[in-house]
Amino acid sequence: MKSHVQVLVIGGGVVGCSVLYHLTKLGWKDVALCERKELTSGSSWHAAGAFHALNSDPAMSRLQAYTVGLYPELQRLSGQDIGLHFPGGLNVAATRERWDLLQADVARHHTLGLETRLVSPAEIRDLCPIMDTRDVLGAIYDPLEGHLDPSGATHAFAKAARLNGAEVYRHTRVLSLTPTGRGSWAVTTDQGTIEAEHVVNAAGLWAREVGRMVGVDLPLVPMEHHYLITEDLAELRSAARELPVVVDLDGEMYMRQERRGVLLGVYETPATPWAVRGTPWEYGETELLPSDLERLAESLTKGFARFPTLQAAGIRKVVNGPFTFTPDGNPLVGPVPGVPNYWAACGVMAGFCQGGGVGLALATWMMTGEPDGDAFALDVARFGAHATKAYVREKAGEFYSRRFRIAYPNEYWPAGRPSKTSAIHSRLVDRRAVHGVSYGLEYPLYFAPHGEPAAETPTLRRSNAFGPVGAECRTARSHGGVLDASSFSRFEFTGPNAELVLDRLLASRLPAVGRVRLTPMLAASGRLMGDLTTIRLAADRFMLFGSGYLQAWHLRWFREHLPASGVTVRNLSDDWGGIALFGPRSRDVLARLTDVDVGADAFPFMTARLMDVALAPALVARMSVTGELGYEIHAPQVYLPAIYDRLSAVAREFGVIDVGMYALLSLRIEKAFGIWSREYSRDYTPTESGLARFVAYDKPGFIGRDAALRDRDATPGRRLVLLEVDASVAEANYLEPVWAGEERVGFVTSAAYGHTCGSSLAMGYLAPPAARAGTALEITIVGERRACRVLGEAAVDPTGARMRA
Ligand SMILES: Cc1cc2nc3c(=O)[nH]c(=O)nc-3n(C[C@H](O)[C@H](O)[C@H](O)COP(=O)(O)OP(=O)(O)OC[C@H]3O[C@@H](n4cnc5c(N)ncnc54)[C@H](O)[C@@H]3O)c2cc1C
Repeated sequence: MKSHVQVLVIGGGVVGCSVLYHLTKLGWKDVALCERKELTSGSSWHAAGAFHALNSDPAMSRLQAYTVGLYPELQRLSGQDIGLHFPGGLNVAATRERWDLLQADVARHHTLGLETRLVSPAEIRDLCPIMDTRDVLGAIYDPLEGHLDPSGATHAFAKAARLNGAEVYRHTRVLSLTPTGRGSWAVTTDQGTIEAEHVVNAAGLWAREVGRMVGVDLPLVPMEHHYLITEDLAELRSAARELPVVVDLDGEMYMRQERRGVLLGVYETPATPWAVRGTPWEYGETELLPSDLERLAESLTKGFARFPTLQAAGIRKVVNGPFTFTPDGNPLVGPVPGVPNYWAACGVMAGFCQGGGVGLALATWMMTGEPDGDAFALDVARFGAHATKAYVREKAGEFYSRRFRIAYPNEYWPAGRPSKTSAIHSRLVDRRAVHGVSYGLEYPLYFAPHGEPAAETPTLRRSNAFGPVGAECRTARSHGGVLDASSFSRFEFTGPNAELVLDRLLASRLPAVGRVRLTPMLAASGRLMGDLTTIRLAADRFMLFGSGYLQAWHLRWFREHLPASGVTVRNLSDDWGGIALFGPRSRDVLARLTDVDVGADAFPFMTARLMDVALAPALVARMSVTGELGYEIHAPQVYLPAIYDRLSAVAREFGVIDVGMYALLSLRIEKAFGIWSREYSRDYTPTESGLARFVAYDKPGFIGRDAALRDRDATPGRRLVLLEVDASVAEANYLEPVWAGEERVGFVTSAAYGHTCGSSLAMGYLAPPAARAGTALEITIVGERRACRVLGEAAVDPTGARMRA
């Protein structure tokens, strides 16, 4: 064993071996991997080995497509047979709702570059003659699905890495990790100590234990999972073609051919968490968990009904093995916040669909300081303190049971709720608020009228919230609206170096004292890293506001760029809350709650004041994402009820009502204002997204400036636009393709009905010729092409007169 390496990967499952291979592929050769037993001694050896690229998240889908595409090359490079089969795959729908979802999905796949297609029951029977298709409405056919030998694939990654210079230490268990004081780690193993500049936790079933070695509780938990393999089936003995991998979405099972029999796996409800207090070190290598077919009876009955020939087939083998799940089912990848040079590559639920991509993403990140494109969906920093063990168990169990249930875009799953509530939550519930959840925090979506259920029906089409949200939007523009805006993140920067630090972090000029500014933040690649709002309260005191669910992500970024002294950053997101007050009567309402002059001249647009509101000391900013005259009132949560009670009493007098986030999202899209994760993300640049107007290109020294200048001077390949859509029963949602005839010219980033302009709207990125105002195009919405036009300006108040009033 070496005494020093640049990177030590802990864990020789498919993920660790892929990380090792990708580090060497991208050029880091002084790397090694420790595996406590033989390679594959965790989940990897007993996987069913199926793979596919389909995923509703674009970053995950990209990562999976890369993984699948890599296998032929991996086999060639390593010279190791990985038992690669590409029979294609079917995702089957047996209900009308599921069929709608598949139609919406297949359109989205085209945006993601996946060449899937819808197939009829007759085609399904042709591809998979053993399936009973009597209740089947259709399926998505994906040519990129297949299966492999999990052990062979893991060894192939290790072998390819070794050929590139990496070392693999088998039967070497990492016992502890100690910082050396030089930024590196002293890694103690049962075979000796090795110093590593970076450590990667790819310990799979033991990732929690390897996390605890550095004082971190990683949000993952293993779940038991069964599949069974049948004896040979008569139908397959002489079949000319291999069966496709079949996922029966409504039956919640998957099936693939295994030699001349089949392998059938089920995701039963409820899930069974395993080793919740920690994975025993003795487990693994060739061990399985006792099977419990009784627990699977209902799911297996569905499986045998879907494939009737299995009823008479002998069972050759039953496998019950554990593998890890996170609360949202996506992996945990990237630098672990607060632990320098310690990286995560764990929580990978589908290692053979995702392992290659995880390895590439992490290796790129380690070498360049950022992943390639938007990787938030897999970033270990997407979870915060709310991801307690109980929360993780509940959410991960829910994800397991709903593994094949594609969530509706307006659906918020119930497990682990409520976890965090704002101080006015119960008041809003009393007023019939229907809540959604983000980063564990409940926030109001809309208010259900009396006589209607205080719950939204999950659907791809307009829901029962359409009418109430419309009323909220119209009243907000005619009189005003009040919204619990606690779901923002709030950071305070103070100290003599605060200005210096923020000037480097933010791509725009900093606001003067008492002023508010929209301040995009860039990564070194020039891609967006944040769409923050900054308020300067004093020469050395700033408040930054962003999306609440990005708080750990942003905090990690800030900390990575802080000097040793002279600036203090406090995350006030949980301690503070906010109320947004907007609409033409909002000034009248605020004036009644404070002694401060809030007139147009005394408190102009994009300024901020520390002032009393009702009984509370508050920070008030004159701005609103609705495009109306408006105020964001921020205060510690303890004051929020008092502000809300007095504010809503006065509001009522002026006809100003409670509204939810749906209204806000509709009002902002009428103004063509983008939001993070949709119009803005690490995938886009300032020029493409229209945020270039806030970038101070002449300001020296901000992160990403060189790349931003190149971006400014190049011709953008796409532009963000607002579209008006001829839609009557369903809005677009996300990633639907936009067509000019048969040419795909862009995609949707978000959409909503514009209740005050009276038309369905969408925002999206289009190739420049198609992005010209007035261009007639089409969008595929739930399987149907809908006409749309590019609007050259906001659908409401294009001059911005209302917000400046
Ligand atoms: C029944 C079943 C069926 C499955 N089917 C599929 C499928 O069809 N398709 C798919 O994509 N996925 C499938 N999976 C999931 C897949 O197996 C996992 O996603 C994958 O194996 C995870 O790989 P890993 O490398 O992250 O973790 P692991 O395979 O658990 O590897 C971690 C490794 O780290 C080692 N290690 C841990 N701690 C230390 C330490 N301190 N020092 C040294 N070494 C250490 C362990 O010994 C182990 O070898 C299935 C899983 C199960 C259980």
